[in-house]
Amino acid sequence: MIAPKDKQGEEERPRKPTKRLSAIGLQLADLVFGRRCAMCSVDLPETQVLPLRLCHGCESQLCLPLPPLCPKCGSRYPQGQTPAEDCSRCRKRKLPFREMVCLGMYDGKLREAILKAKHARNQPLAAALAELLYNKRREKLLSLECDLVVPIPMHWRRRWLRGVNHTETQAAELGARLGLPVKHALRRVIATEPQGGLSASARRKNIRGAFRKRFRFKVKDARILLVDDIVTTGATCTEAARSLRRAGAASVDIAVISRADRPIPVPRNRL
Ligand SMILES: [Zn+2]
Ligand SMILES: [Zn+2]
Repeated sequence: MIAPKDKQGEEERPRKPTKRLSAIGLQLADLVFGRRCAMCSVDLPETQVLPLRLCHGCESQLCLPLPPLCPKCGSRYPQGQTPAEDCSRCRKRKLPFREMVCLGMYDGKLREAILKAKHARNQPLAAALAELLYNKRREKLLSLECDLVVPIPMHWRRRWLRGVNHTETQAAELGARLGLPVKHALRRVIATEPQGGLSASARRKNIRGAFRKRFRFKVKDARILLVDDIVTTGATCTEAARSLRRAGAASVDIAVISRADRPIPVPRNRL
């Protein structure tokens, strides 16, 4: 399935150069990988319009309906609680980003796809997930009116060991689909411990000071779309957004493939 063509007068962004580059990349990928589903490797039907490299079965399992989430931090509202502009968790702190747009919850098939997309050989899948995010959340992403796309960087040592930063692949795909430039404006100056298994406060401490703005990129007054593959407590994207805001960015929004389930605590008097 291909994203619908722009509706008349809906946007006036310069899309052609990035789209052309993306098309060349996809044609090359076509030659190398053939017309196969990037997730399950089943042959795609000749009638399926590329570039989306997912079979219908995988696509539907990767796009399950989202529960009600806080539009700002992506925390899940408990059953029976009405979603508001921002949640009780957001009201307690000042976040350096405006909104978080996500494809789905970090669970089931999407979790499996995200783990698979981290490997260098599975970059067509990493790109397919970003394209799915664009296809399903297009209106929201366009309404943010961002100027440029920035991926969450990986420390150079980890990138060297992995051979790829899958988040860069996803940022490139999103940038191409949105017609926005992609700038690797941040670098990771501290090789942080993996965040898995740490508490929210330990994650914030672990990631503090981990990002620096690259000198050669200007972000002053820019509206930035920061791309990551998974948000758990939000500590990483909060720290990265803070670095961009300190460097003068006008605003930061987060585009993320998946959100780990993090229910908003129910107030004590409701228990
Ligand atoms: Zn498939
Ligand atoms: Zn919130």
